[in-house]
Amino acid sequence: AISIRGLHKSFGPVEVLKGIDLDVPGEVVCVIGPSGSGKSTLLRCVNLLETPTSGKVFVGRDEMTDPDCDLDRVRRRIGMVFQSFNLFAHLNVLRNLTIAQIKVLRRSRTEAEAIARRTLDRVGLAGRETAFPAQLSGGQQQRVAIARSLAMSPELMLFDEPTSALDPELVGEVLAVMRGLAAEGMTMMVVTHEMAFARDVADRVVFMDGGVVVEQGPPEQVIGDPQQERTRAFLSRVL
Ligand code: ATP
Ligand code: MG
Repeated sequence: AISIRGLHKSFGPVEVLKGIDLDVPGEVVCVIGPSGSGKSTLLRCVNLLETPTSGKVFVGRDEMTDPDCDLDRVRRRIGMVFQSFNLFAHLNVLRNLTIAQIKVLRRSRTEAEAIARRTLDRVGLAGRETAFPAQLSGGQQQRVAIARSLAMSPELMLFDEPTSALDPELVGEVLAVMRGLAAEGMTMMVVTHEMAFARDVADRVVFMDGGVVVEQGPPEQVIGDPQQERTRAFLSRVL
């Protein structure tokens, strides 16, 4: 679970997050909102890839924003998938999935490879172990990236527009993997502009604009029957 309390983030004089309070209990939370509203900054503040200017971030019982927090240890419990796939181009698929298991989690090669194969099967890529990233489609590469995160046995996953760099015909296969994860009960915080995904999969939708949470609630409310004018205006542009 993630808890965010009174989170502010400025870049120089520009305040990008203006006091965010948000909880991601063991469920799927989708964050939507216009470009520049602070969605990626918020996600990056969860694992402290960005240092908040003020406020608190908890992952489980650990406070990430506590100066004494062992960030590396807590980050191991958090998977993150970005728009760009960030695979190791010089390593084949299997090695992409085993390297951090071996180096960070100290798993044996045998165990890491067994977990890698199971995880590849989960994302529909069994049999592609020896392929190199450049030999795969964008959708396959993103599924490898998701599998690489999953192989680390995270307790929660952060996704920042994981399908927005993909050709339209490849979006569905990545969303299908994410739907599967959600169905298995993975805690997920997903920044997305895929409204159909948010509507079908999210337990809660958070609409951000201008660095604040304007509205949040179940998808049937926030997407289906928005209460705030800013939410309505945004949805009328994207739906
Ligand atoms: P998009 O939908 O386009 O991805 P977003 O909601 O993810 O947008 P952010 O990337 O969080 O928005 O950016 C919010 C604001 O913060 C933008 O105005 C952006 O220019 C600014 N910003 C983000 N990162 C930095 C940085 N490292 N330095 C300065 N400004 C930044
Ligand atoms: Mg973004």
